[in-house]
Amino acid sequence: MNFSRKIPVGISQCAMGDAVRFNGGHKHSKVCTELLGQCFDYVPLCPEVAIGMGVPRKPIHLLVEKDGAPVDAVRVIGVDDASVDVTAPLRDYADSVVPELQKVRGYIFMQNSPSCGLRGVRRYLANGHGIDSEGVGVFARRLQQQFPHLPMEEVGRLNNNELRENFLTRVFAYDAWFRYVESDGSEDAVAQGDEGSVDKNSGDKRPGISGRPLSFLARVIEFYTAYKYLLMAHHQDKTRALGKVLADAKSMSEAELAFEVRGRIMEILSRPASRKDKTNALMHSAGHLSEFLDKREKAELKDLIEDYRVGHKPLSAVLTLLRHYLPRSPHSFIHSQVLLAAEPAELGLCDFS
Ligand code: SF4
Repeated sequence: MNFSRKIPVGISQCAMGDAVRFNGGHKHSKVCTELLGQCFDYVPLCPEVAIGMGVPRKPIHLLVEKDGAPVDAVRVIGVDDASVDVTAPLRDYADSVVPELQKVRGYIFMQNSPSCGLRGVRRYLANGHGIDSEGVGVFARRLQQQFPHLPMEEVGRLNNNELRENFLTRVFAYDAWFRYVESDGSEDAVAQGDEGSVDKNSGDKRPGISGRPLSFLARVIEFYTAYKYLLMAHHQDKTRALGKVLADAKSMSEAELAFEVRGRIMEILSRPASRKDKTNALMHSAGHLSEFLDKREKAELKDLIEDYRVGHKPLSAVLTLLRHYLPRSPHSFIHSQVLLAAEPAELGLCDFS
């Protein structure tokens, strides 16, 4: 599969196969480089090398004063020499790469690292005893704070088909948001923009997801509309709540609205879509087409969705049939649904052997 446009994504450099680890080795991930590399244009960073620790280097770990300490109450110190403290340099380095990372639409971190780990990093007391696994790497944590909605995942978790599909869904959506909603109409300008920035001139009309020139609010509503059934497949209640936010959107500034809607969309998508909720969204989609189907076609589609619900048929079988009937409907709503567009599995991005 060749992707005409690759999406910029940050990644821990050791996952690319570069020998930047403390022991002079790497942790090459073929899933990242060979599979996801088909659609991602990587920005590899190694924070420990970047702050001058060298290769090889003495190991570091997360230090806390007591059990249950908050996630930010950590220091990154030398395992053998507690006077080595690289907490501030790692945080400062994260702040320094924020401008470079404005263009990325996702970040893949190496697990278990006191710099890059996203979750479950081992924490230690001053006496060297491991106390818990509640830590987040200091570099990763700073980037979470700088880019609160940026899709992030760990290298190891991407070996799991469902987690990989979910990450891809989030990256595609985040990328689409910045292309069609918080865009000034040029890819380059988007890449250089501030994550929190929106149109400076609210009167400007710019191309939305449909390509038609629209006001900022109209672009947000159009984006939500196109993503509606995909969002419902992830969380029905939160999708309806987002619809209510949009109904009152006129009282919000563009910056407030962009932050609110972007955050809610990414939160909804971060919940893996269940088969039950996907079935519900597929039935809603089928409902839009039923008036254009004869009795036999309706029954066939209904049976296929039921086969998917009980696990006898893959999602792609249902999507293929829905797409087959799609041209019969003149209604733009159903044509715009991202749920019916090619999904990561169909793009060949979910199976790796
Ligand atoms: S986990 Fe992060 S800090 Fe450690 S080698 Fe990999 S990129 Fe460098």
